[in-house]
Amino acid sequence: MEEEEVQYDVVTCRHCDGAGCLYCGKKGTVEVRHPARLCPKCNGECCIYCGYTGWDKPRGKYE
Ligand SMILES: [Zn+2]
Ligand SMILES: [Zn+2]
Repeated sequence: MEEEEVQYDVVTCRHCDGAGCLYCGKKGTVEVRHPARLCPKCNGECCIYCGYTGWDKPRGKYE
């Protein structure tokens, strides 16, 4: 059986709007699980659940 491959989408960090900040590692973008969705807790306004990126399931935070 093959392992299920997790896909990621690259999206603009909502916290800094692409300028680069602490939460996106100064890249301005974040990788989130495909399909990219805004964080359901804050609706993209950035909160602790999305690691302040505004996106649902950012890579490497809650895996
Ligand atoms: Zn950022
Ligand atoms: Zn959030």
